[in-house]
Amino acid sequence: MVRQSDSLMTSSPPSAHWSLIIIGTGFAGLSLALQRMNGRQEDFIVLEQAQSPGGTWRDNRYPGCACDVPSHLYSLSGAPPWDWQRKYAEAPDIEAYLAHLAHSLGSRIRYRAQVTSASWQAHKQLWQVELNDGSCLTCRFLVAGVGPLSEPAWPDFPGVENFTGPLLHTARWSKNQDLKGQRVGLIGTGASAIQVGPALAPEVAQLIIFQRTAPWVVDRKDHPYTPGIRRLLRTSPFLRRAYRTWLYFTRELKGLAFLRPNLMRKIEAYVRRDLTHKVVNPRLRQKIMPKTPMGCKRILLSDTWWSTLEFPHVTLETDPIHHIEATHLVTETGTRYALDALVLATGFRYQDNPMARLFKGEEGITLEEFWKEQRSAYLGMMMPSFPNFFLLTGPFSGLGHNSIVFMIECQTRWIQSALAHVAALGKSEFKVRAQAYAAFTNEMNRRSKNSLWMQGCQSWYLDPEGRNTALWPGLSLSYWWRTRRFNAQDFEYA
Ligand code: NAP
Repeated sequence: MVRQSDSLMTSSPPSAHWSLIIIGTGFAGLSLALQRMNGRQEDFIVLEQAQSPGGTWRDNRYPGCACDVPSHLYSLSGAPPWDWQRKYAEAPDIEAYLAHLAHSLGSRIRYRAQVTSASWQAHKQLWQVELNDGSCLTCRFLVAGVGPLSEPAWPDFPGVENFTGPLLHTARWSKNQDLKGQRVGLIGTGASAIQVGPALAPEVAQLIIFQRTAPWVVDRKDHPYTPGIRRLLRTSPFLRRAYRTWLYFTRELKGLAFLRPNLMRKIEAYVRRDLTHKVVNPRLRQKIMPKTPMGCKRILLSDTWWSTLEFPHVTLETDPIHHIEATHLVTETGTRYALDALVLATGFRYQDNPMARLFKGEEGITLEEFWKEQRSAYLGMMMPSFPNFFLLTGPFSGLGHNSIVFMIECQTRWIQSALAHVAALGKSEFKVRAQAYAAFTNEMNRRSKNSLWMQGCQSWYLDPEGRNTALWPGLSLSYWWRTRRFNAQDFEYA
């Protein structure tokens, strides 16, 4: 039976036991916490390992960091309006937005509370959550909003430990880092690199960009909003909603190209022509002309990437990196670059994210062990052997073409329905049936098989077997449809 403190409706919870613990204060954790707060379901706490909220938008502080989804879409639909100043907000503005949202949760958020382990106690039907300060909390339901792109990937170049200058990862940027007038090497040409490169170029003496794969880059068409537009969007809920809907559906339409390769090939031909037009230097053009099918990796948005590559003090090096010395980077053909600092825009450990070791389900099995065959989660959220445990933005719930915040809100609404259903049944425990999980995984594998992501690119979307385990293989609308209500028959209860 559900105890009084597990009814999800009580207002003064005991300090060490909670009905619900949410880990993380990025968009995911805050979205669920705010929904519960607004519904007066207050027996929960949010744990945040850092001193301030924001998740990825707090941690990714490299120069030029911004969102490549328009902010009126990349924000919570139910939250109070925010006065976005430009179409694509910069990281500090998004961090301020999240801090504002977190503020309304007050002491519901416990900062500097890093989870060191969380294990399912079958006999008590509880999760036991241990923190870095040695304290221990328990909860009936546990939600991990820890972000799949939270752990930076540090490539192991031979000799990298001998480099004497600063070695900076875009996901761990130190605020006071000054690279003015320095010779800087930038490794990577992904979503982070195409933002940090143009931001660094005007201030450094030399920028050498090491490209392994030429990315597909299309115009972002960023612009500030006029004061009049800002006022209208701030004051008119109707206009705000209409604009958000328009932004959503234009992106969703573009998503059709991922499902129809013929359409993507037409867009590809257009971007090639555009690139030929814009980049006059034929040697540079040849280097940046992508060799992979468009959409195979994330399509990048930038208004400044190509022009940055044409600056006289910027070099695009496509020779593979051979090794690194105290003051030099040496390529495979022996070119030596003297460097004062090295910027790694080399992405994240998605497929082997160490957070999977933190969570221990039935019989002490870790998520990492459970995922040995394949990373998967029913609707991107639940695994058998992990009762009462939800992942936010888990496997198969990422997006390449639309706002991840939309997916997060589908998930948090679904979790709310799931919790309400379990409470209505008077049960303390529920988990997804192994059969439903297997059927979902098979469906995802089948639908991913002919996707563009599996057409020969190497990316964080793919596991070591080359299978997509990251993205939802369809339009986000179809994900909304699948999560619009809780499908009780796919679960077992105790
Ligand atoms: P990423 O997409 O994984 O790109 C990493 C880059 O580093 C790639 O160019 C990769 O080359 C290169 N690289 C990695 N290891 C290397 C090695 N050993 N030697 C040479 N090059 C190496 O990482 P990211 O740019 O940080 O982006 C990751 C994700 O974060 C994105 O897909 C997106 O979801 C998110 N993001 C979003 C935004 C936004 O505006 N919303 C901004 C930044 C990031 P290859 O291509 O050859 O592998």
